[in-house]
Amino acid sequence: MPEQTEKMNLLDLDRAGMETFFTSIGEKAFRASQVMKWIHQHRVTDINEMTNLSKSLRENLQAMAEVRLPEVVVDQKSDDGTRKWLLKLDSGNCIETVFIPEGSRGTLCVSSQIGCALECSFCATGRQGFNRNLSTGEIISQVLVANHALGFDKDGERIVTNVVMMGMGEPLLNFDNVVAAMNIMMDDFAYGISKRRITLSTAGVVPALERLREVIDVSLALSLHAPNDELRDILVPLNKKYPIKETLAACKHYFEGKKHRYLTVEYVMLKNVNDKVEHARQLVKLLKDVPSKINLIPFNPFDETQYERSSQTAINKFRDILIKNGLITITRKTRGDDIDAACGQLAGRVQDKTKRTQKRIQLQAGAE
Ligand code: SAH
Repeated sequence: MPEQTEKMNLLDLDRAGMETFFTSIGEKAFRASQVMKWIHQHRVTDINEMTNLSKSLRENLQAMAEVRLPEVVVDQKSDDGTRKWLLKLDSGNCIETVFIPEGSRGTLCVSSQIGCALECSFCATGRQGFNRNLSTGEIISQVLVANHALGFDKDGERIVTNVVMMGMGEPLLNFDNVVAAMNIMMDDFAYGISKRRITLSTAGVVPALERLREVIDVSLALSLHAPNDELRDILVPLNKKYPIKETLAACKHYFEGKKHRYLTVEYVMLKNVNDKVEHARQLVKLLKDVPSKINLIPFNPFDETQYERSSQTAINKFRDILIKNGLITITRKTRGDDIDAACGQLAGRVQDKTKRTQKRIQLQAGAE
């Protein structure tokens, strides 16, 4: 039997992509908004049920395309209302998506890659190695699955109000697919989330930040974690390529011409590593002319990590120095840690192509 080639996945297309597709098969561009609505707002995956398309178009479409969703293999709820889905993408790989409710806000933490190619020393995802980029469809599926599971509140508003690209992976190293997926998140024929409620978090891929500002306008978070290059080189090795000064300049440039927008600065609190008074003072200097909001993130430990979480006293002292010097600072609450859904704990199941895990085991065996 000839091998069956995979059909196109309609989830891979944002509206511009879908319009191009429909015109390429001799159809009107507005078919794109109709199909987007069926998929993302009515969660219809069977093309035959898209009843405002003619029968012949449906047949034609079915022959070449489909709506292919990942399988939900685990759906866990934390005591604090946090929810985590494990989604199976292919034979060996699963990713995790987390929903965090807080008052009227419901934030979905979305993954962009299977594993991560950056090896930030304090992050569980980084330790697992890297397999591949997610497709646009695999990214937006996370939003679709969560919206379908959670639905609407009593006023008819979606429970998922915000999206943060803070799950597994470095979104700017999967640029095109992440941008297309964020376009779908913002599209009124899909999820209609405003640009202020979608945040891309990056370790600071400088050239990609420059490109980002040209193609999309969303909120931005920078994983800074250290106030000087010497320390950041250790915590976020990408810093050796793009040092702090250059990275902050690119972030500032991203916001140029945009009013009332702040860079979210993420700073994980690691005991006796980056949590001292001198670090807080350096941070104040560094950020004095960057319009920013600082999120202090108490470190979430995972197996075999060498780091520990800073004490509450150290975190409060650090926060107070920043606030006293005029920096808007909050300490992020640890959520969902009973189901390993907290920041940096997302691991999914990654078939590591970098052999990072294997190398570590060999090193450990050698040391024993
Ligand atoms: N690669 C992107 C997106 C991942 S976001 C980035 O670096 O921004 C994941 C966020 O969780 C980042 O701010 C990351 O620094 C933080 N994080 C990672 N590991 C953590 C841990 N063990 N405890 C607390 N926060 C962690």
